Amino acid sequence: MEKDQEESVKILGAGISGLSAAITLTNNEYKSAVFEKKSHSGGRFKRDFQGLRNFGNGNIDPIREFKELGICIKPYKKLMRIVRYSRSYNFEVISNSRPIYYLVLRGKNKNSIDTQLASSALDLGVNIVYNTRLDVNEADIVATGPSRTDSLAYGGLYYDVDINYTGYVFLDKKYSPNGYFYILPGEKRGEAEIVNATFGPAVSMQTLKVFYDKAIRENKILKDILDGATKKTVRRGIGCCSLLKKPYQNNKYYVGEAAGLQDVTAGFGIRYAVISGYLAAKSILTGEDYNKQMVKTFKSQLDFERKRSENFKKLTNDDLDKIFQSINQKFDHELTVEEYESLRGVI
Ligand SMILES: Cc1cc2nc3c(=O)[nH]c(=O)nc-3n(C[C@H](O)[C@H](O)[C@H](O)COP(=O)(O)OP(=O)(O)OC[C@H]3O[C@@H](n4cnc5c(N)ncnc54)[C@H](O)[C@@H]3O)c2cc1C
Repeated sequence: MEKDQEESVKILGAGISGLSAAITLTNNEYKSAVFEKKSHSGGRFKRDFQGLRNFGNGNIDPIREFKELGICIKPYKKLMRIVRYSRSYNFEVISNSRPIYYLVLRGKNKNSIDTQLASSALDLGVNIVYNTRLDVNEADIVATGPSRTDSLAYGGLYYDVDINYTGYVFLDKKYSPNGYFYILPGEKRGEAEIVNATFGPAVSMQTLKVFYDKAIRENKILKDILDGATKKTVRRGIGCCSLLKKPYQNNKYYVGEAAGLQDVTAGFGIRYAVISGYLAAKSILTGEDYNKQMVKTFKSQLDFERKRSENFKKLTNDDLDKIFQSINQKFDHELTVEEYESLRGVI
């Protein structure tokens, strides 16, 4: 693209990656227009609660990392305790200092990170055109979310759940084949999101729902946590975890999940979306090779996640129990974040 810019850079999709690209371009005095098919930013989500991992990336805090790129987001909560379960064992991770996860809201609500990014973009003068689909051939940056289905999530939003600052993860192949079940506290006291996720995907959405309902009925810990709770809405989602060979192709930059950027073991994609949006904008601004930048920035982490996923696929519930038992034997206390981080190659 010419440095002497005559036309706006056209971005398809007002989610995390598209808005991060627009903000970066505008911060560098480039014009951009974002076209969003829904009436609001983060059109795929309806007040979903998501986590930003604050470990496993050296000691780099993601909120600070984004800020240094000029992208500011505010979490609704810091998660200071998580409990992880295999079928028969569990261990806890507790932090008194750095959050283990930042929790962020998604969708059209005023505190969501989608709305926060859209407000920043609008304040800078970005033109966001809602309720509009543009043909992909007309776009310079494609930020439309998953281009294929490599992962599935099924769950629900609940009220009157007393978990507040704790997150729960269940590894049980009976209910979550090649995936996991999680519970995250919501924005308001008593709210919680409970989700069953599968990668591959190992089963269809219909089967995932059957397993979800079964786990809610049968799993004693889940039953205890949900005692007295009411289910408000169902959650369903998909993800794409296969990085495109060439995220820059046919004069277009593919960013976020449109480029296939998501962890294949956990389904995390927010950090990838912010950074790839930033890199695409930088490439437009400086002429840097986006394909090379993507490999340099993400390849080792994606390879690590793929290896973890291949190992995890092979583990049975008995294997998981043995691993959890050995963690309990090794650490006779709640784990610190650093100790937990040291297990990332193991589980
Ligand atoms: C249930 C679930 C839970 C998740 N939990 C986590 C988590 O805890 N942590 C984490 O890091 N990640 C999580 N993720 C993944 C994360 O949400 C995504 O990786 C991230 O949102 C990807 O950002 P993106 O910019 O690529 O796409 P999105 O943020 O989805 O934005 C895409 C935008 O493009 C719009 N759009 C689509 N097609 C068109 C079109 N043709 N024209 C115009 N607009 C279009 C959509 O409406 C949407 O607004 C989760 C995903 C799901 C489904």
